[in-house]
Amino acid sequence: MFNLEKLVRENIRRLKPYSSARKEFTGEARIFLDANENSFGSPLERNYNRYPDPLQWKIKQKIAEINSVEPNEIFIGNGSDEAIDLLIRIFCEPRKDNILICPPTYGMYEVSADINDVEIKRANLTKDFQLDFEKIESEIDENTKMLFICSPNNPTGNGFAKFEISNLARNFNGIVVVDEAYIHFSDEESFITEINNLPNLVVLQTFSKAWGLAGLRFGLAFASEEIIELFNKVKPPYNISEIAQEAILDALENRSEMEQTIADIKKAREKLIENLSRLEIVTKIYPTDANFVLVKTIDAEKIYKFLLGEKIVVRNRNNVELCEGCLRITVGTPDENDKLIESLGQNRLR
Ligand SMILES: *Cc1c(COP(=O)(O)O)cnc(C)c1O
Repeated sequence: MFNLEKLVRENIRRLKPYSSARKEFTGEARIFLDANENSFGSPLERNYNRYPDPLQWKIKQKIAEINSVEPNEIFIGNGSDEAIDLLIRIFCEPRKDNILICPPTYGMYEVSADINDVEIKRANLTKDFQLDFEKIESEIDENTKMLFICSPNNPTGNGFAKFEISNLARNFNGIVVVDEAYIHFSDEESFITEINNLPNLVVLQTFSKAWGLAGLRFGLAFASEEIIELFNKVKPPYNISEIAQEAILDALENRSEMEQTIADIKKAREKLIENLSRLEIVTKIYPTDANFVLVKTIDAEKIYKFLLGEKIVVRNRNNVELCEGCLRITVGTPDENDKLIESLGQNRLR
Protein backbone atom coordinates (compact mmCIF):
# COMPACT_ATOMS: atom_id res chain seq x y z
CA MET A 1 0.00 0.00 0.00
CA PHE A 2 1.16 3.52 -0.81
CA ASN A 3 1.78 5.44 2.40
CA LEU A 4 3.04 8.99 1.92
CA GLU A 5 3.86 9.51 5.60
CA LYS A 6 6.15 6.49 5.59
CA LEU A 7 7.82 7.46 2.34
CA VAL A 8 8.96 10.92 3.42
CA ARG A 9 12.36 11.29 5.05
CA GLU A 10 12.16 11.48 8.80
CA ASN A 11 13.89 14.89 9.03
CA ILE A 12 11.54 16.37 6.43
CA ARG A 13 8.50 15.00 8.21
CA ARG A 14 9.67 16.66 11.41
CA LEU A 15 10.86 19.85 9.71
CA LYS A 16 9.46 23.14 10.91
CA PRO A 17 9.64 25.22 7.73
CA TYR A 18 11.04 28.74 7.62
CA SER A 19 8.23 31.20 8.15
CA SER A 20 8.84 34.28 6.03
CA ALA A 21 7.37 37.68 6.86
CA ARG A 22 5.17 37.56 3.76
CA LYS A 23 3.87 34.14 4.66
CA GLU A 24 2.74 35.19 8.12
CA PHE A 25 1.00 38.32 6.93
CA THR A 26 -1.27 38.18 3.90
CA GLY A 27 -3.86 40.96 4.39
CA GLU A 28 -3.86 44.55 3.13
CA ALA A 29 -1.40 46.81 4.94
CA ARG A 30 -0.53 50.50 4.74
CA ILE A 31 3.13 50.27 5.61
CA PHE A 32 5.43 47.27 5.32
CA LEU A 33 8.27 47.33 7.84
CA ASP A 34 8.41 43.60 8.43
CA ALA A 35 10.91 42.12 5.98
CA ASN A 36 13.93 44.43 6.07
CA GLU A 37 13.36 45.45 2.49
CA ASN A 38 14.57 48.79 1.21
CA SER A 39 11.59 51.13 1.20
CA PHE A 40 13.54 53.82 -0.64
CA GLY A 41 13.73 51.85 -3.87
CA SER A 42 16.49 50.80 -6.26
CA PRO A 43 18.38 52.11 -9.30
CA LEU A 44 15.76 50.47 -11.53
CA GLU A 45 12.73 52.37 -12.68
CA ARG A 46 10.44 49.43 -12.13
CA ASN A 47 10.14 48.67 -8.43
CA TYR A 48 11.54 45.35 -7.33
CA ASN A 49 12.27 46.35 -3.76
CA ARG A 50 9.63 44.02 -2.28
CA TYR A 51 9.89 40.26 -1.91
CA PRO A 52 7.70 38.33 -4.36
CA ASP A 53 4.71 36.16 -3.41
CA PRO A 54 6.36 33.02 -1.97
CA LEU A 55 3.53 30.76 -3.18
CA GLN A 56 2.77 32.51 -6.49
CA TRP A 57 -1.01 32.35 -6.01
CA LYS A 58 -2.05 34.46 -8.98
CA ILE A 59 -0.13 32.25 -11.36
CA LYS A 60 -1.30 29.05 -9.72
CA GLN A 61 -4.93 30.11 -10.08
CA LYS A 62 -4.45 30.62 -13.82
CA ILE A 63 -2.54 27.39 -14.32
CA ALA A 64 -5.07 25.49 -12.22
CA GLU A 65 -7.89 26.75 -14.40
CA ILE A 66 -6.10 25.80 -17.60
CA ASN A 67 -5.29 22.28 -16.37
CA SER A 68 -8.49 21.57 -14.38
CA VAL A 69 -6.69 21.03 -11.08
CA GLU A 70 -6.71 22.92 -7.78
CA PRO A 71 -4.13 25.68 -7.15
CA ASN A 72 -2.85 23.71 -4.14
CA GLU A 73 -2.07 20.78 -6.43
CA ILE A 74 0.66 22.84 -8.13
CA PHE A 75 4.25 23.55 -7.17
CA ILE A 76 6.24 26.17 -9.07
CA GLY A 77 9.99 25.79 -9.21
CA ASN A 78 13.00 27.65 -10.52
CA GLY A 79 12.88 25.44 -13.59
CA SER A 80 11.66 21.86 -13.29
CA ASP A 81 15.22 21.05 -12.31
CA GLU A 82 14.41 22.55 -8.90
CA ALA A 83 11.43 20.20 -8.59
CA ILE A 84 13.64 17.20 -9.41
CA ASP A 85 16.15 18.17 -6.72
CA LEU A 86 13.44 18.83 -4.13
CA LEU A 87 11.77 15.48 -4.83
CA ILE A 88 15.00 13.66 -4.14
CA ARG A 89 15.60 15.65 -0.98
CA ILE A 90 12.05 15.10 0.29
CA PHE A 91 11.95 11.35 -0.21
CA CYS A 92 15.45 9.90 -0.41
CA GLU A 93 17.66 9.27 2.59
CA PRO A 94 21.27 9.72 1.39
CA ARG A 95 23.30 6.47 1.31
CA LYS A 96 20.24 4.41 2.06
CA ASP A 97 17.47 5.00 -0.46
CA ASN A 98 17.67 4.83 -4.23
CA ILE A 99 15.87 6.10 -7.33
CA LEU A 100 15.25 4.20 -10.56
CA ILE A 101 15.79 5.73 -13.98
CA CYS A 102 15.32 4.32 -17.50
CA PRO A 103 18.34 5.32 -19.63
CA PRO A 104 18.94 6.76 -22.09
CA THR A 105 17.09 9.62 -20.44
CA TYR A 106 17.39 13.16 -19.09
CA GLY A 107 20.69 13.63 -17.25
CA MET A 108 19.46 15.73 -14.33
CA TYR A 109 17.82 12.83 -12.46
CA GLU A 110 21.21 11.20 -12.08
CA VAL A 111 23.06 14.44 -11.30
CA SER A 112 20.52 15.45 -8.64
CA ALA A 113 20.72 12.01 -7.06
CA ASP A 114 24.53 12.15 -7.12
CA ILE A 115 24.56 15.58 -5.48
CA ASN A 116 22.33 14.24 -2.73
CA ASP A 117 24.38 11.05 -2.37
CA VAL A 118 21.42 8.91 -3.38
CA GLU A 119 22.01 5.64 -5.23
CA ILE A 120 20.78 5.23 -8.80
CA LYS A 121 19.32 2.05 -10.21
CA ARG A 122 19.00 1.66 -13.95
CA ALA A 123 16.55 -0.21 -16.11
CA ASN A 124 17.68 0.60 -19.64
CA LEU A 125 15.06 1.03 -22.32
CA THR A 126 14.77 -1.77 -24.87
CA LYS A 127 16.51 -1.42 -28.25
CA ASP A 128 13.45 0.30 -29.69
CA PHE A 129 13.37 2.66 -26.70
CA GLN A 130 10.43 1.11 -24.86
CA LEU A 131 10.16 0.61 -21.09
CA ASP A 132 11.55 -2.73 -19.94
CA PHE A 133 9.06 -3.75 -17.26
CA GLU A 134 10.79 -6.97 -16.26
CA LYS A 135 14.02 -5.10 -15.68
CA ILE A 136 12.23 -2.31 -13.80
CA GLU A 137 10.55 -4.83 -11.54
CA SER A 138 13.77 -6.70 -10.85
CA GLU A 139 15.69 -3.53 -10.01
CA ILE A 140 13.16 -2.15 -7.52
CA ASP A 141 13.96 -3.01 -3.89
CA GLU A 142 12.59 -1.91 -0.53
CA ASN A 143 14.71 1.26 -0.62
CA THR A 144 13.57 2.40 -4.07
CA LYS A 145 11.67 5.60 -3.35
CA MET A 146 11.15 6.99 -6.82
CA LEU A 147 10.82 6.09 -10.50
CA PHE A 148 11.60 8.75 -13.08
CA ILE A 149 9.78 8.34 -16.39
CA CYS A 150 10.42 10.98 -19.03
CA SER A 151 7.62 11.02 -21.61
CA PRO A 152 8.21 12.10 -24.33
CA ASN A 153 11.70 10.96 -23.47
CA ASN A 154 14.85 13.01 -23.86
CA PRO A 155 17.03 12.15 -25.88
CA THR A 156 15.06 9.44 -27.72
CA GLY A 157 12.00 11.60 -28.51
CA ASN A 158 9.30 8.94 -28.08
CA GLY A 159 6.52 8.97 -25.53
CA PHE A 160 5.34 5.94 -23.53
CA ALA A 161 1.81 4.56 -23.50
CA LYS A 162 -0.32 6.04 -20.75
CA PHE A 163 -1.66 2.70 -19.55
CA GLU A 164 1.88 1.40 -19.15
CA ILE A 165 2.79 4.28 -16.87
CA SER A 166 -0.49 3.94 -14.93
CA ASN A 167 0.22 0.26 -14.39
CA LEU A 168 3.68 1.05 -13.15
CA ALA A 169 2.28 3.62 -10.72
CA ARG A 170 -0.40 1.22 -9.44
CA ASN A 171 2.13 -1.50 -8.76
CA PHE A 172 4.74 0.65 -7.05
CA ASN A 173 4.57 1.96 -3.50
CA GLY A 174 7.00 4.81 -4.08
CA ILE A 175 6.67 8.04 -6.05
CA VAL A 176 6.35 7.92 -9.85
CA VAL A 177 7.61 11.08 -11.51
CA VAL A 178 6.42 11.62 -15.08
CA ASP A 179 8.50 14.34 -16.70
CA GLU A 180 6.41 15.99 -19.41
CA ALA A 181 8.85 18.68 -20.51
CA TYR A 182 7.94 17.89 -24.15
CA ILE A 183 4.26 16.96 -23.81
CA HIS A 184 3.06 19.99 -25.77
CA PHE A 185 4.73 18.67 -28.92
CA SER A 186 3.03 15.30 -28.60
CA ASP A 187 -0.44 14.20 -29.68
CA GLU A 188 -0.78 12.29 -26.40
CA GLU A 189 -2.68 13.81 -23.52
CA SER A 190 -0.93 14.97 -20.38
CA PHE A 191 -0.87 12.80 -17.28
CA ILE A 192 -1.99 15.69 -15.07
CA THR A 193 -5.56 14.40 -15.10
CA GLU A 194 -4.35 11.29 -13.25
CA ILE A 195 -3.07 13.03 -10.10
CA ASN A 196 -6.45 12.48 -8.44
CA ASN A 197 -6.47 8.76 -9.28
CA LEU A 198 -2.84 8.00 -8.47
CA PRO A 199 -1.72 9.32 -5.06
CA ASN A 200 1.93 8.55 -5.83
CA LEU A 201 2.06 10.46 -9.12
CA VAL A 202 4.05 13.65 -9.70
CA VAL A 203 3.85 15.25 -13.17
CA LEU A 204 6.55 17.73 -14.18
CA GLN A 205 6.12 20.37 -16.85
CA THR A 206 8.18 23.39 -17.80
CA PHE A 207 7.94 26.77 -19.50
CA SER A 208 11.39 26.20 -21.03
CA LYS A 209 10.32 24.35 -24.17
CA ALA A 210 6.85 24.86 -25.71
CA TRP A 211 6.39 28.23 -24.01
CA GLY A 212 9.79 29.41 -25.23
CA LEU A 213 10.73 30.87 -21.85
CA ALA A 214 13.83 28.91 -20.80
CA GLY A 215 15.51 32.12 -19.66
CA LEU A 216 12.86 32.81 -17.03
CA ARG A 217 13.46 29.53 -15.15
CA PHE A 218 9.94 28.38 -14.49
CA GLY A 219 8.90 24.76 -13.96
CA LEU A 220 5.83 23.03 -12.59
CA ALA A 221 5.01 19.97 -10.55
CA PHE A 222 1.44 18.66 -10.36
CA ALA A 223 0.55 16.24 -7.57
CA SER A 224 -1.78 15.63 -4.65
CA GLU A 225 -2.17 18.47 -2.16
CA GLU A 226 -0.22 16.40 0.40
CA ILE A 227 2.80 16.04 -1.87
CA ILE A 228 2.67 19.73 -2.88
CA GLU A 229 2.68 20.67 0.81
CA LEU A 230 5.98 18.83 1.16
CA PHE A 231 7.45 20.81 -1.74
CA ASN A 232 6.32 24.05 -0.09
CA LYS A 233 7.88 23.03 3.19
CA VAL A 234 11.29 22.37 1.66
CA LYS A 235 11.59 24.97 -1.10
CA PRO A 236 13.50 28.24 -0.60
CA PRO A 237 10.86 30.79 0.48
CA TYR A 238 11.19 33.15 -2.49
CA ASN A 239 12.22 30.73 -5.22
CA ILE A 240 10.46 32.52 -8.12
CA SER A 241 11.52 36.11 -8.78
CA GLU A 242 9.04 38.94 -9.23
CA ILE A 243 10.22 39.46 -12.82
CA ALA A 244 9.57 35.83 -13.68
CA GLN A 245 6.15 35.92 -12.01
CA GLU A 246 5.11 39.02 -13.96
CA ALA A 247 6.36 37.63 -17.24
CA ILE A 248 4.63 34.29 -16.75
CA LEU A 249 1.32 36.02 -16.00
CA ASP A 250 1.71 37.96 -19.25
CA ALA A 251 2.56 34.78 -21.17
CA LEU A 252 -0.49 33.00 -19.78
CA GLU A 253 -2.64 35.79 -21.23
CA ASN A 254 -1.29 34.90 -24.66
CA ARG A 255 -1.82 31.17 -24.79
CA SER A 256 -3.03 31.20 -28.36
CA GLU A 257 0.34 32.53 -29.48
CA MET A 258 2.02 29.63 -27.75
CA GLU A 259 -0.35 27.18 -29.44
CA GLN A 260 0.53 28.71 -32.80
CA THR A 261 4.26 28.35 -32.10
CA ILE A 262 3.77 24.69 -31.28
CA ALA A 263 1.96 24.15 -34.58
CA ASP A 264 4.79 25.94 -36.39
CA ILE A 265 7.43 23.83 -34.67
CA LYS A 266 5.58 20.62 -35.54
CA LYS A 267 5.42 21.68 -39.17
CA ALA A 268 9.13 22.55 -39.18
CA ARG A 269 9.84 19.20 -37.52
CA GLU A 270 8.12 17.33 -40.32
CA LYS A 271 10.09 19.12 -42.99
CA LEU A 272 13.36 18.70 -41.10
CA ILE A 273 12.79 14.94 -40.82
CA GLU A 274 11.95 14.70 -44.51
CA ASN A 275 15.14 16.56 -45.45
CA LEU A 276 17.32 14.60 -43.03
CA SER A 277 16.01 11.32 -44.41
CA ARG A 278 17.41 12.22 -47.86
CA LEU A 279 20.97 12.52 -46.55
CA GLU A 280 23.39 9.65 -47.14
CA ILE A 281 25.09 10.23 -43.79
CA VAL A 282 21.82 9.59 -41.96
CA THR A 283 21.10 5.91 -41.36
CA LYS A 284 18.05 6.17 -39.09
CA ILE A 285 15.65 8.80 -37.79
CA TYR A 286 13.84 7.82 -34.63
CA PRO A 287 10.14 8.69 -34.27
CA THR A 288 9.68 11.80 -32.16
CA ASP A 289 6.92 13.42 -30.13
CA ALA A 290 9.20 16.26 -29.04
CA ASN A 291 10.82 19.39 -30.50
CA PHE A 292 13.97 17.48 -31.38
CA VAL A 293 14.96 14.45 -33.44
CA LEU A 294 17.39 11.71 -32.58
CA VAL A 295 19.30 10.83 -35.73
CA LYS A 296 21.62 7.87 -36.28
CA THR A 297 24.51 8.70 -38.57
CA ILE A 298 27.50 7.00 -40.14
CA ASP A 299 29.90 8.88 -37.84
CA ALA A 300 28.47 11.11 -35.10
CA GLU A 301 31.83 12.41 -33.82
CA LYS A 302 32.96 13.50 -37.25
CA ILE A 303 29.66 15.12 -38.17
CA TYR A 304 29.40 16.85 -34.81
CA LYS A 305 32.86 18.39 -35.20
CA PHE A 306 32.19 19.31 -38.80
CA LEU A 307 29.03 21.15 -37.79
CA LEU A 308 30.91 23.02 -35.05
CA GLY A 309 33.25 24.22 -37.81
CA GLU A 310 30.13 25.47 -39.58
CA LYS A 311 29.16 27.22 -36.32
CA ILE A 312 26.17 24.92 -35.88
CA VAL A 313 25.80 23.21 -32.51
CA VAL A 314 23.80 20.00 -32.14
CA ARG A 315 23.91 17.53 -29.25
CA ASN A 316 26.36 14.67 -29.64
CA ARG A 317 24.86 11.54 -28.03
CA ASN A 318 27.43 9.13 -29.45
CA ASN A 319 28.72 8.20 -25.99
CA VAL A 320 25.29 7.50 -24.53
CA GLU A 321 24.40 3.83 -24.21
CA LEU A 322 21.90 2.76 -26.93
CA CYS A 323 22.50 6.06 -28.79
CA GLU A 324 25.81 5.13 -30.46
CA GLY A 325 26.25 7.11 -33.67
CA CYS A 326 23.44 9.48 -32.74
CA LEU A 327 23.03 13.22 -32.78
CA ARG A 328 20.12 14.95 -31.11
CA ILE A 329 18.95 17.84 -33.21
CA THR A 330 16.57 20.50 -31.90
CA VAL A 331 13.99 21.72 -34.40
CA GLY A 332 14.94 25.29 -35.24
CA THR A 333 13.26 27.91 -37.37
CA PRO A 334 12.73 26.90 -41.03
CA ASP A 335 15.74 29.04 -41.94
CA GLU A 336 17.98 27.45 -39.30
CA ASN A 337 16.88 23.98 -40.35
CA ASP A 338 17.61 24.72 -44.01
CA LYS A 339 21.11 25.92 -43.15
CA LEU A 340 21.72 22.77 -41.14
CA ILE A 341 20.56 20.56 -44.01
CA GLU A 342 22.70 22.51 -46.45
CA SER A 343 25.78 21.99 -44.28
CA LEU A 344 25.03 18.31 -43.77
CA GLY A 345 24.67 17.83 -47.53
CA GLN A 346 28.27 18.77 -48.24
CA ASN A 347 30.47 16.20 -49.93
CA ARG A 348 33.20 16.35 -47.29
CA LEU A 349 31.05 14.38 -44.92
CA ARG A 350 30.78 11.20 -46.95
C1 LIG B 1 14.56 20.59 -20.82
C2 LIG B 1 14.07 19.59 -19.87
C3 LIG B 1 13.56 19.97 -18.62
C4 LIG B 1 13.45 21.42 -18.31
O1 LIG B 1 14.14 21.82 -17.23
P1 LIG B 1 13.92 23.32 -16.73
O2 LIG B 1 14.72 23.31 -15.49
O3 LIG B 1 12.45 23.50 -16.48
O4 LIG B 1 14.43 24.24 -17.79
C5 LIG B 1 13.07 19.00 -17.78
N1 LIG B 1 13.07 17.71 -18.13
C6 LIG B 1 13.54 17.33 -19.32
C7 LIG B 1 13.46 15.90 -19.70
C8 LIG B 1 14.07 18.25 -20.22
O5 LIG B 1 14.55 17.83 -21.39
